[in-house]
Amino acid sequence: MTIQDWGITYAELEPYYDKFEKVAAVSGKAGNIQGQKKTGGNPFEAPRSGEYPLPPLKHILSSKLFGETSQKMGYNPFPRPSANASQAYTNPDGSKFGACQYCGYCQRFGCEANAKGSPHMTVIPIAMKKPNFELRTHAWVTKIIKDSSGKKVTGVLYTNVTTGEEYEQPAALVLMCAYAFNNVHLMLLSGIGEPYDPATGKGIIGKNYAYDTGVGGNLFFEGKNFNPFISAGGTNTVIDDFYGNWEFDRSKPNFVGGYIVSSGHNTALPIGYRPVPPGTPSWGKDWKAATAKYYQQAMSITTRSGVLPNRYNYLDLDTSYKNAFGQPLMRLTFDFKDNEHRMGMHGADIVNQMISAMNPNKSSKASGAKRNWGFTPYQSTHNTGGTIMGTTPGNSAVNKYQQSWDCHNLFLVGANVFPHNSAYQPTGLVGAMAYWTADAIKNKYLKNPGLL
Ligand SMILES: Cc1cc2nc3c(=O)[nH]c(=O)nc-3n(C[C@H](O)[C@H](O)[C@H](O)COP(=O)(O)OP(=O)(O)OC[C@H]3O[C@@H](n4cnc5c(N)ncnc54)[C@H](O)[C@@H]3O)c2cc1C
Repeated sequence: MTIQDWGITYAELEPYYDKFEKVAAVSGKAGNIQGQKKTGGNPFEAPRSGEYPLPPLKHILSSKLFGETSQKMGYNPFPRPSANASQAYTNPDGSKFGACQYCGYCQRFGCEANAKGSPHMTVIPIAMKKPNFELRTHAWVTKIIKDSSGKKVTGVLYTNVTTGEEYEQPAALVLMCAYAFNNVHLMLLSGIGEPYDPATGKGIIGKNYAYDTGVGGNLFFEGKNFNPFISAGGTNTVIDDFYGNWEFDRSKPNFVGGYIVSSGHNTALPIGYRPVPPGTPSWGKDWKAATAKYYQQAMSITTRSGVLPNRYNYLDLDTSYKNAFGQPLMRLTFDFKDNEHRMGMHGADIVNQMISAMNPNKSSKASGAKRNWGFTPYQSTHNTGGTIMGTTPGNSAVNKYQQSWDCHNLFLVGANVFPHNSAYQPTGLVGAMAYWTADAIKNKYLKNPGLL
């Protein structure tokens, strides 16, 4: 395992988390404001400067039941913070959000209430009001161009995918914000930094790729109506007792890191969401009848844990497959290792204790059985690492300002800079670090261009 210093502290980042949450209309309940523990929030969180901009989303039945049970078991439930406005809200930039309608169509859909803190509600309309801003759609960047010294970039090559025409766009400063995978891919395609070699452990670009994992079980209650279609992306109750809780003794289960446990329904879509108890036929009339019956009567409890980096999981350029531009695709080499397995076994045990305590009529238990990773079905999009941040060019691709050590006018913004993954979802940290980097560019770099 290769855990390394990020080079940045929580205290440095906290004001930027606060800014991001205010811009993205995050609803939640603080558990620690300036060192004072707050009832109803996460008691294990680091000190925040203030409350979330909006109160938490409403409890739905499954999150209420999970909260009551976990509290009885001595854990500390709190509502999951979510970039989804629980009330009508105007953010500091003047963007107006409607209140969430709990329609259940959050993930993978546009929000008809304009309640989601997506970029088209937040930063893009504000930027478009600036006379010096231009949004070019259908532009696919294929390469970052370096100058002859190799120490600066001079712009990007991009193709208009509707016409096939290729352009060179000169630039004094390049910010790569193309998502974790694409940022790493573009670094490899552009020949910036030394690619990671798993055989020798040498090289930086592609190393410390990390993903996440989890276990879970379903509970079925005769006579309860969970109405899972009435929900939002973050209508969950969560416990952090096995992650942020430093008192939790990991020595006996023998793992590093940890996991959160949560319950609630989000985007329980009528076709995609079909929980059935064990023993139900997997097709045909009886399966159909069971899916109709249990749609209303089921809820789940799941864990989520961050995979920690190791020398075996990495990203590089594929040697066989190419994209539409004739460039090598990015290749992902990944599997779960013993640490994930041990976390899974512990998590399954806790989930199963909670299922028993909730006493459902039927249940499918969580399993900690050893398993290999597979890329179907969809699990999460919490991909991190590949161009990690750190304290020296020898251990990282970027410094604490997400600035490339190799080319000082290139900044890489995204979860690709995380040296390791978290049990929590990445976007809050991606957003906070984007503001931190923008601030550093504006107030430090532009005054004296060079390595910060
Ligand atoms: C179904 C789903 C559910 C998710 N749920 C959660 C969640 O609950 N919580 C959470 O924290 N995160 C969640 N995520 C992850 C979250 O979406 C990402 O962490 C976040 O969007 C990353 O932001 P980003 O700005 O780095 O990249 P993105 O939001 O992906 O933006 C990158 C942009 O760059 C563009 N781009 C890429 N390559 C190129 C190129 N070569 N040239 C030009 N443009 C390019 C893309 O088109 C895109 O517009 C979810 C993701 C999915 C898909």
